[in-house]
Amino acid sequence: MRNMTPLITNIQRFSIHDGDGIRTTVFFKGCPLHCTWCHNPETQQYKKQILTDPEKCTGCASCVRVCPQGAVHLEGGKETTDRMICDGCGTCTEYCILNLRETAGKEYEIKNLVKELKKDEIFYEQSGGGVTLSGGEVLSVDMDYIEALAKELVRQGITVTVDTCGHVPYENFQRLLPYVSAFLYDIKAMDSEIHKQYTGVDNTLILENLKKLSSDAKRKAKIYIRIPVIKGVNAEDAEMEAIAGWLKAQRIQASQVNLLPYHNTGSSKYGRLGETYRGGEFETPDKEEIERLSEIFRKAGFQSN
Ligand code: SF4
Ligand code: SF4
Repeated sequence: MRNMTPLITNIQRFSIHDGDGIRTTVFFKGCPLHCTWCHNPETQQYKKQILTDPEKCTGCASCVRVCPQGAVHLEGGKETTDRMICDGCGTCTEYCILNLRETAGKEYEIKNLVKELKKDEIFYEQSGGGVTLSGGEVLSVDMDYIEALAKELVRQGITVTVDTCGHVPYENFQRLLPYVSAFLYDIKAMDSEIHKQYTGVDNTLILENLKKLSSDAKRKAKIYIRIPVIKGVNAEDAEMEAIAGWLKAQRIQASQVNLLPYHNTGSSKYGRLGETYRGGEFETPDKEEIERLSEIFRKAGFQSN
């Protein structure tokens, strides 16, 4: 467990795909997985990072002059940032007149975060929504902070949903069981080798935790299984049949199985982080394919899409 104050990259209001009703989703920074298709790459690392935009840079060199680490220099009239040296302090973001530099990761005291999240209370009440804690992987950051946050939200009458990849110690789930109304639990692939190839870890811990969560006598929360469907990785009948078969055989108490078509909307962020997007060959399944694959789960007895 990490004992530093968790960093938040975004507070997204009016989310309608992150659990029941209208929700405000908090994205925490840091994840034990590195999915090739991740559309929030700025949430993968646990430290602050700087997003830049060399293509639009005019080469004014303001950022070069103010960087206390000497992490920026000009190359061919454009800024270039050494990510090994940059500590994400954010100083340069205040000096770029074109606002091309942005810090990913901000600390919030719990009381200030709750105050921010309460601004949308009226929408939660009207729609049966609440707050979704997402990431990155929210169950891999400081659990003292996350437990206190969830407890306070519930105390103030706001429901809490947790979006998780499942690759965390089960104890972290247990700590949140008294407060969570729903878990959005991701399954990426049944084939452990494929899982490792595209996410960096095998799926053993993820599946073990899902079995424990499903059968945990202290669980009041619903479980929504979420599967990103990606052509080139898992958008095959055989792969979905394997997942459906496993869920059924293990008697996983899933309220729904949601198939989420892959999209590449986050791909441009990789360049802004000085990284390379490796999902160029992936394709988005069309509506008919998603419908066909959903039918596999319905036949296995699950409510799907
Ligand atoms: S975030 Fe801080 S260390 Fe990084 S480039 Fe900007 S000023 Fe330099
Ligand atoms: S301050 Fe902005 S425009 Fe000027 S060199 Fe830095 S990134 Fe480029």
